[in-house]
Amino acid sequence: MESTVALTDQCRQKALELGFEVCGFTSVDVKLRGEYYLKWIAEKQHGTMSWMERNNERRLAPRNILPEAKSILMVGLNYYQDDPDMRGKMAKYALGKDYHKIIYKRLKRLCRWMQEQGGVQKPYVDTGPLLEKPIAVEAGLGWMGKSTLLLHRKFGTFLFLGAIVTTLDLEADPVEQDHCGSCTRCLDICPTNAFPAPYKLDATRCISYLTIEHHGSIPLEFREAIGDRIYGCDDCLDVCPWNRWARTTRESRFLFAGLPDLTETLAWDETAFTERFQGTPITRLKLPRWKRNVCVVLGNIGTLSDIPALKLLAGGDDPMIAEHAMWAIERIQSRNSQSK
Ligand code: SF4
Ligand code: SF4
Repeated sequence: MESTVALTDQCRQKALELGFEVCGFTSVDVKLRGEYYLKWIAEKQHGTMSWMERNNERRLAPRNILPEAKSILMVGLNYYQDDPDMRGKMAKYALGKDYHKIIYKRLKRLCRWMQEQGGVQKPYVDTGPLLEKPIAVEAGLGWMGKSTLLLHRKFGTFLFLGAIVTTLDLEADPVEQDHCGSCTRCLDICPTNAFPAPYKLDATRCISYLTIEHHGSIPLEFREAIGDRIYGCDDCLDVCPWNRWARTTRESRFLFAGLPDLTETLAWDETAFTERFQGTPITRLKLPRWKRNVCVVLGNIGTLSDIPALKLLAGGDDPMIAEHAMWAIERIQSRNSQSK
């Protein structure tokens, strides 16, 4: 028992030395709300994210990932930064370089150290069938708020999570209690009413889903509510009172590296898009969905000076982009005629 506690302490210390802000542990036989997850999937609230339907025998029972495993280590890395001064908004996690590789490298170093202690490990960064948030709750990193996000008492909601499933026997941390209390700020602020109830998200209505995961045309009913958000949405994070102590990330690669004006990006070809966004989460979108999103944003906040660039797209050969560009032009013209 004493050696378990000592090894756990050393492991936590090692994680903090590697730059993670928080680290906690739970048993590999962690209790997960499998029924809730399967019901959410059955109700199709995950939209077209079909990967969430697969590998549930591992997702809901992490022991099946590594049969000899005893523990799961969870780490969190703060990515908060103020929103940059630019036309249009992007979710803070997407302002800089992609977190997957940055965290994975650190986890691999931690795995090597754990291997020296006799363990066999499997690291994860949002890439495999692992329910990171509920496991992080069990590992004492925070609680899942009414926004369904993980909340840490000190770092609020702006934490990237990483996990290591390990055969090492490590001491579980106490589970954090829910501290949302009577607050409903996240539920009230949501521009698309994506919360059918507290602690429940209908991803198909969420701007993060609509602007990132959703392929094809953005349904008309959501376009105005998307406002100036080009990629993702942080509204339910920004209003959370537990973010009042949020501090700028220590990882400089997460910081915003600038962007040309939105209208200029409408003329980009694949090379220009790749040159600017290589190594960032935005590459997931690919160029057509980027242009689609920019059209929606310009439809909501653009001016007459944006119309020539939009007209070029409206006459282009991608019907999905052309339709969004025409929608944007009509919206700008209608705003302009009303203000006369
Ligand atoms: S990210 Fe935005 S759209 Fe999605 S649930 Fe939060 S506030 Fe609503
Ligand atoms: S905004 Fe309020 S209700 Fe929502 S997650 Fe934060 S504390 Fe909880």
